[in-house]
Amino acid sequence: MSFILNNFLKIKSDISKFSLKANLVVVCKNQSIEVIKPIIDLGHLHFGENKVQEAKKKWNLLVQQKKDLQLHMIGRLQVNKANDAVGLFDYIHSLDSIRLAKALSLYEMRLNKQCKYFIQINFENETQKGGVLEKDLYDLYSSSQVLNLNVIGLMCIPPKGQDAKYYFEKLENLGKKFNLNLHSIGMSGDYIKALECNSSFVRIGSAIFSN
Ligand SMILES: *Cc1c(COP(=O)(O)O)cnc(C)c1O
Repeated sequence: MSFILNNFLKIKSDISKFSLKANLVVVCKNQSIEVIKPIIDLGHLHFGENKVQEAKKKWNLLVQQKKDLQLHMIGRLQVNKANDAVGLFDYIHSLDSIRLAKALSLYEMRLNKQCKYFIQINFENETQKGGVLEKDLYDLYSSSQVLNLNVIGLMCIPPKGQDAKYYFEKLENLGKKFNLNLHSIGMSGDYIKALECNSSFVRIGSAIFSN
C-alpha cells in the first residue's frame, strides 16, 4: 500500500480512538488529483483546499460526478473570490469579516445555495493570519445571522510554538458563549490535542501526504 494510504488510515484510526464525532478534512492543497484519488476511491468525502482558483481547477469536474463530496475552504478568503467559493465549497472555515459575510450572503442568494461556516478567530492578532479578533466576534456573528449565513462553529490556528491546547480550550469556551459547539481545530502537528479538546473537524495535510 502507498505511504499516503497508510498515513490516511493511521490518522483515521487515531481519530476513532480519541473521538466519536470528529471528521477528518484531508487538506490537499498543492496535491494533484492523481495523488488524492486513492483516498477518494476509499469513499472518503471531506477534502480541504486553501486557494479558490486551485480548488476550482482540481475539483470542478469531480464534484459534478460525485455529488456527495464535501469540499472545505480552509484558507483566507478574499472578498472578490466569494462568488466562486460559494459556488464550489460546502464548508468555509475562514469567515472573518462583515464585508466578507455580506459578499457571501449575496452570492448565496444569487446561486440559491447555502454553505456551512466557521468563524475563524485570531487570538493573538497575528497579522499574517486571517481571523477576527475575539472582541469583534459578537458583531461578526450577529451580522452573519442577519445575513442568514449558516454559522456552525469556530475555527482557529494556534500561534506557532505556543501551547495549542490553551487556544483550543479558549475556542471551546468562546463557542459555548455563543452556542457554537462545532470546532474546526487540529492540524498535522496538534490533531491529537485537538481531538482531546472536542474537535469536530481536524484539517490534516502534511501528515498524510509527506513521507
Ligand atoms: C495547510 C493547512 C492545514 C493543514 O496543515 P498540515 O500541517 O499540513 O496538516 C490546516 N489548516 C489550514 C488553514 C491550512 O492552511
